[in-house]
Amino acid sequence: MALIVQKYGGTSVGSVERIQAVAQRVIQTAQTGHGLVVVVSAMGKTTDGLVKLAHEISANPSRREMDMLLSTGEQVSIALLSMALQELGQPAISMTGAQVGIVTEAEHTRARILSIETERIERHLQSGRVVVVAGFQGISSLSDLEITTLGRGGSDTSAVALAAALRADCCEIYTDVPGILTTDPRIVPDAQLMDEITSDEMLELASLGAKVLHPRAVEIARNYGVTLVVRSSWTEDPGTKVISPIPQPRPLEGLEIAHPVDAVEFDTDQAKVALLRVPDRPGIAARLFGEIASQDLDVDLIIQSIHEGNTNDIAFTVTKNSLNRAEAVAAAIAPALRNQTDPIAGEAEVMVERRMAKVSIVGAGMIGRPGVAAQMFTTLAEAQVNIEMISTSEVQVSCAIAEEDCDRAIASLCQAFNVTSSPAKSGAGRREPNTEAAHNLLPPVRGAALDLKQARLAIRHVPDRPGMAARIFTLLAERNISVDMIIQSQRCRLINGVASRDIAFTVAAIDADEAQSILQSSNLGFGEVIVDRSIAKVSIVGTGMVGRPGIAARMFEALAQEQINIQMIATSEIKVSCLVAEQDGMRALQIVHAAFGLSGNQRIVVPA
Ligand code: ASP
Ligand code: MG
Repeated sequence: MALIVQKYGGTSVGSVERIQAVAQRVIQTAQTGHGLVVVVSAMGKTTDGLVKLAHEISANPSRREMDMLLSTGEQVSIALLSMALQELGQPAISMTGAQVGIVTEAEHTRARILSIETERIERHLQSGRVVVVAGFQGISSLSDLEITTLGRGGSDTSAVALAAALRADCCEIYTDVPGILTTDPRIVPDAQLMDEITSDEMLELASLGAKVLHPRAVEIARNYGVTLVVRSSWTEDPGTKVISPIPQPRPLEGLEIAHPVDAVEFDTDQAKVALLRVPDRPGIAARLFGEIASQDLDVDLIIQSIHEGNTNDIAFTVTKNSLNRAEAVAAAIAPALRNQTDPIAGEAEVMVERRMAKVSIVGAGMIGRPGVAAQMFTTLAEAQVNIEMISTSEVQVSCAIAEEDCDRAIASLCQAFNVTSSPAKSGAGRREPNTEAAHNLLPPVRGAALDLKQARLAIRHVPDRPGMAARIFTLLAERNISVDMIIQSQRCRLINGVASRDIAFTVAAIDADEAQSILQSSNLGFGEVIVDRSIAKVSIVGTGMVGRPGIAARMFEALAQEQINIQMIATSEIKVSCLVAEQDGMRALQIVHAAFGLSGNQRIVVPA
């Protein structure tokens, strides 16, 4: 007998009729003899309604009382669904988070799950009942019984956590869309349904703004190897499968908080090419990386930083034996890149670093746990390692450093995160599918996303010495501010006798003011902190882009053809992000989506 966890979202249980339809569906599965745990959200927009009620009474209600209030929504739907099942002759029982024993941190309104008691659920399953569990809620401890909630949209996380704790065979998320789409169909009407996606890709897309799944649910699926399917509540279509590689065994204790980092990886075969003072106009990244791709050179990290004045720096890493050819390409382009608006600045200049290495920490939910990247930077600073380039993503944070620092960096990171290290395998090695041939069949780009809710901060004149990134990002992590796209300019300038760089990064727009004021009052010896809110971040994601030259170039080219200026570029192994002006954002997403052949002719209508 298999054990299945099904989760139905708010719309799927939005009315009595829908609850009855869900009950039919649940019974179909139960009748095949499988054990079945069903997690439900609150009916329709109930939770929004409760939030509104609270705010009619208090502008700033206590978080404990918010949890007390919001957790009632799910209590209604579990009782009604159980009644509907019983009415159809199916034995069923509803249980709250407390009754199950879903223990969370004592952090009201955004608690992470620590552990789940399985004994009561298992007993009910044994006796032939369908167990209907309230999503989104837990308790602070088995003795305290303080009701907590997991954060909006958290029922997905409840379902996957239950599947992990019960070692279920499968977790099915039923929703009002047919599955996971290549991008947001409200902006790109010809977005297509995917048959499958890896959990790493899904994590990236979810953190870039794709809203189908709660990102924490995907983290748990990845960490515990839960088979996850997203499909429509109204049809029999198979939906989208989220695939996770076989995970390293990990304890169920500390479920959502233990070991955010599961490995340290390194790659000593890296060299860096930087093109300094390139004019800030469309088409330059396209030209540079187009030429590089036409030589079949595989580029690893790419960054384009903003800089005072009208010029940017672009830097990228390649393997050591590609360096000479990459340098030649850059040198051939440089003379043409004369800065018309500032003739004194002259032409672009090429700089190479022959002996570089990359160290990475690998895990799930890195951007969502800002303390993790901060700890990496602090660890490197304490080991006196200067960070030359930073690449962040949900599944990996990497730093390009001098090769001679690599051993020291690895040793200190392994100690700090209590893990072992290994040479970086190409993405094809670490992730499913694990043969080269299968990897080459993967689409290079699985999906594209647009994030309009970010702001960019630029810090001028940051002294270039180990520890600056650590201090800056620790300050932000202490306030729980997540940072993405961290880019240090390549050029150093002497400011009052100190070699200094600019550092720019993006944060959620709602965190921008706080981040700016923390940094301005920090006394870390840097210059102005400038906020720009009128930006958009366009990204492509795909495990299949690893080891395939020309993917980033194709994105830059598509944007250049439409005269869209790229302000900043940041890449990680499986993602390329470009910052563009806010008003170009939607068009940029449409162009990029089409450029990778993601468009199709199915029309998928998504409820607003
Ligand atoms: N009812 C909660 C919310 O609306 C949890 C959920 O739907 O997943 O945020
Ligand atoms: Mg919901």
